[in-house]
Amino acid sequence: MEEMNVDVLVVGSGAGGLTAAITAHEHGAKVMVVEKSDMFGGTSATSGGGIWIPCNHLMAEHGETDTPEAALNYLKACIGDDVAEERIARYVDQAPKMLKFMEDKSEVKFTATPYADYFPDRPGGKDGWRTLDPLPMSATKLKGEFLNMREPHEQTAFGGFTLTVNEAKKIITRAPGWSKIMSRLVFLYRIDIPFRRKTKRHRRLCLGNALVGRCLVSAFKRKIPVLRETPFKSLIEKDGRVVGAIITRDGKDVKVNTSRGVILAAGGFESNPDMRAKYLPHSSNPDWSATPGTNTGDAHKAAAEIGATMTLMDAAWWGPSVRLPKRDRSRVLFVERALPGIYIVNGNGERFLNEAASYDEVGRQVQEHPLSTWVVFDRKAREKYAVGPLYPTAVMPDVAWGKSVKAVMKKADTIEELAALMGVDAEGLKATAEKVGRYSETGIDEDFGSGNNSYDRYYGDPTVKPNPCLAPISKGPFYAFQIFPGDIGTKGGVDVDVNAQALNAAGVPIGGLYATGNTASSVMGRTYPGAGSTLGPAMTFGYVAAKHMMRAN
Ligand code: FAD
Repeated sequence: MEEMNVDVLVVGSGAGGLTAAITAHEHGAKVMVVEKSDMFGGTSATSGGGIWIPCNHLMAEHGETDTPEAALNYLKACIGDDVAEERIARYVDQAPKMLKFMEDKSEVKFTATPYADYFPDRPGGKDGWRTLDPLPMSATKLKGEFLNMREPHEQTAFGGFTLTVNEAKKIITRAPGWSKIMSRLVFLYRIDIPFRRKTKRHRRLCLGNALVGRCLVSAFKRKIPVLRETPFKSLIEKDGRVVGAIITRDGKDVKVNTSRGVILAAGGFESNPDMRAKYLPHSSNPDWSATPGTNTGDAHKAAAEIGATMTLMDAAWWGPSVRLPKRDRSRVLFVERALPGIYIVNGNGERFLNEAASYDEVGRQVQEHPLSTWVVFDRKAREKYAVGPLYPTAVMPDVAWGKSVKAVMKKADTIEELAALMGVDAEGLKATAEKVGRYSETGIDEDFGSGNNSYDRYYGDPTVKPNPCLAPISKGPFYAFQIFPGDIGTKGGVDVDVNAQALNAAGVPIGGLYATGNTASSVMGRTYPGAGSTLGPAMTFGYVAAKHMMRAN
């Protein structure tokens, strides 16, 4: 068998893996990244690219401050006892250092956003600035490798142009200036004829494409090999220590000897039907996931084979999702649930949750009604907002629905007819419409408190009073589509210590084996404290692992 020698082998080319590779290289390692897919970037490249970093140095530009005590209190209030406090504290301590390191030593750059924490009322919660948005970058920096990076998923507008988080927020909520922003972006996208000749993709990379694009440019500048179509198969152990791995290259197994170790950053197991059925019985269908499909728990299995312990295997980053026929993955309803006049009901036609809560909370609750949950709205909301697969009527009238949209949408002139098409209780749905009509007038959602905090209101419509998250459903035609308990990745995996080092059944670190991202058991436990709670830890513990391996401070 062919053999290769490196100091550090990184498995997976998402943001966590690439951050680990850049950090290890900075500290003198000969490092190699292997990626099983023919595309770089994993779910990270298709994501919003936001990272949740408490006490980050970028918030000072907005006159904002944070303290490690507040951040730790907040995380503890969200996470509870699912994760050891020392690991949470390690995150609070290391996340801002990772950010500073990446900004100083790589092309990866961010800006702070006013996106509120998902539970801003809990102790230490903050009304924004812990979530960072990657700065856009030009695809030309990646040269020929650009087309080898995964495309954004459902995050371009009208098939092409890209948006930052702040631009998207203005357009979604129709905040002042939204149409100017949109016209300018459409114009710049359209006139970029040289790029249009190569691809319909936008030269301006935003969100997850900007994050992974920036990581890749940094890795390439350092001449770190990032090998596509090179799956990792198994770990090699000697005297209780991981000393290498078997990978497959051009159809042949290759032995990689590692002097410092292996970092598993191969994502979760969301696309593995057997593991899903076993660990996530209430969301067992991989089709409900919004992830690209290559995360099949390979690294989980390899780590378990050499005695690593797995924890939190029943947990995922949840999200209510809709899947159109012929699409390779679902689409999570991240934000539109907070807009006024858009409600979620069960088979009785009744609301059962606060629609404006985080996608993780809503996705978790949808599991209680997995095959009978619907999004409903009326003509007013339909005309004004993008909802699920629909754009506002001005740009996507009902007559322009393609076959796939028609396949999932229900439309009727009356609420009773809509209920019949949905197969839900008509009296229940009518009672819901009557109730939300009242709540919209008073501005108080007496059942679920929608619009009560800064997070709920963040994606509400500021022009709607008294509550930007509440409006009646009263003007026909009425619309509905079914949603499912989907996810944006699983969060159970290799149990790790404060250094991201894998632990065995006795709780003892396994020499030479580290895990980060969704391959590791999440530092966030079963909760989702704020936007960027998955990529922030993936990058931070990639950084921590690499430094520990290289014995750097
Ligand atoms: P990935 O980024 O998926 O990377 C894992 C890589 O490992 C993949 O490329 C995979 O092909 C590769 N791999 C798998 N098996 C092998 C093997 N055997 N050998 C070699 N390679 C292998 N999170 C946030 O924090 N902020 C956001 O703004 C955000 N927005 C999101 C938006 C969407 C639409 C989605 C779907 C997710 C979003 N998420 C967000 C979630 C986040 O993207 C994921 O949780 C995160 O990317 C996981 O990172 P990872 O490194 O663990 O996995």
